[in-house]
Amino acid sequence: MRKYGFLCWVLGFAVFGLATMASPTRALCAEGDPNWKALEKEAVSLLSRYIQIDTTNPPGNEIKAAKFFKSIFDREGIEARIFESAPGRGNIYARLRGDGSKKALVLLNHMDVVPADRRFWSEEPFGGLVKDGYVWGRGALDMKGSAIVELMTMLILKRQGIPLKRDIIFLGMADEEAGGAMGLGFMVKEHFDLFKDAEFVLNEGGRINLRGDGKVPYYAVGVSEKGPFWLKLTVRGSPGHGSTPKSDSAVNKLIASLNRIINYQTPLKVVPEVQRFYADIADLEPSPKKERLKDLKRSLKDPVFAAEFTKNPRANAMVRNTISVTMLEGSSKVNVIPSQASAKIDIRLLPGEDPKEFLKELRLVIGDESIKIERILSIPPISSPTNSELFQIISEVSRNHDPEAVITTPLLRGFTDCHYFRERGILCYGFMPFKKSDKERSRVHGNDERISVENIKFGMGMLYEIVRKLVAK
Ligand SMILES: [Zn+2]
Repeated sequence: MRKYGFLCWVLGFAVFGLATMASPTRALCAEGDPNWKALEKEAVSLLSRYIQIDTTNPPGNEIKAAKFFKSIFDREGIEARIFESAPGRGNIYARLRGDGSKKALVLLNHMDVVPADRRFWSEEPFGGLVKDGYVWGRGALDMKGSAIVELMTMLILKRQGIPLKRDIIFLGMADEEAGGAMGLGFMVKEHFDLFKDAEFVLNEGGRINLRGDGKVPYYAVGVSEKGPFWLKLTVRGSPGHGSTPKSDSAVNKLIASLNRIINYQTPLKVVPEVQRFYADIADLEPSPKKERLKDLKRSLKDPVFAAEFTKNPRANAMVRNTISVTMLEGSSKVNVIPSQASAKIDIRLLPGEDPKEFLKELRLVIGDESIKIERILSIPPISSPTNSELFQIISEVSRNHDPEAVITTPLLRGFTDCHYFRERGILCYGFMPFKKSDKERSRVHGNDERISVENIKFGMGMLYEIVRKLVAK
């Protein structure tokens, strides 16, 4: 399907003539280099239409977005299927085939978005307005813009007729913003066969860091995330009337235990991922911090530096397992001493930690056998290696774009859908090549979310370069 020629012209007219309201003209018909100017227009127009599909979760309604993608894949001759996890909760899967000599690449994205309150926006959150060099709307950054760039990458490879050694799988998932049970959780459980042949996954979670002065200090690739380990503590005690206190009441016992937990300082641990990250970015800091960060493990042995470093809650969370007490439940009446009280705690474990071992440590801290501990969520903190082919390609392409920028791998304190793959031995990397300043990032889940046309153009070009290097023969 490499030669388009006359057929392409006819197709172009047919598509343009029949469906000007929906289908942008084909930006690629001739052989040779892609027509980036036309592709940029096409990507902007697709993103604008995609933002207009309201996929606020809850309720999600991702089926409309899944159909939007399906119609594009159908038109382009790329096999695609929709899977509904519940009425209205659509997931889209598409596959562009290679010769199968190497394992597949998954381009992962989620189609749902968080709610937007129109009162605090300058423009319609679901209008898809293109204004002042930006595409405006909820999801522009998280992560409808990425999905369009992933889609365009597949379309360009298909239209160019580039022979592939790996299949490329597009996964547009529902429900990520609410935990993913109706999205990737469902797909992994019910349809894992569809993508078990994958070797690599590209997902959100990494970016190109843009400073206020327009310089790019570093490219961040997500290879590791802390593992959430959420627990519920429940304790029983003597009930009774609030007028007659009992020292062994459930609430008293629970509070005493929680007090021991919040006073417990988990030991400082610099895992290799974090040691490497700070060493990578050390040169961006002034002396003497620069020298300190170059060998964080050693520097943290100095109690004065350790106290200074861990004062910043974000830095602190990079060098230890953390515990936050977040939910409490006691009596429902002020004058009743309940027979039971419970608390939920949000623990985040560093890569390489064993939840079972941590639980043993926590039991010692609590020191009360009567406290029942249940696991609510436990995701093992697994990292993806930096010596893989995909990581090497991301580094190489980044260096070509920006010889002075550092390519590094910050530890994510939160977690993404990557764990579904890492648990199954598939390498997952967080990297979408958009240049984002802290200000732009603050609009993710915030007001006036928007992505610049410049970013769409740059991101599309760079993602295409990375993917092509990995999948083309
Ligand atoms: Zn997201």
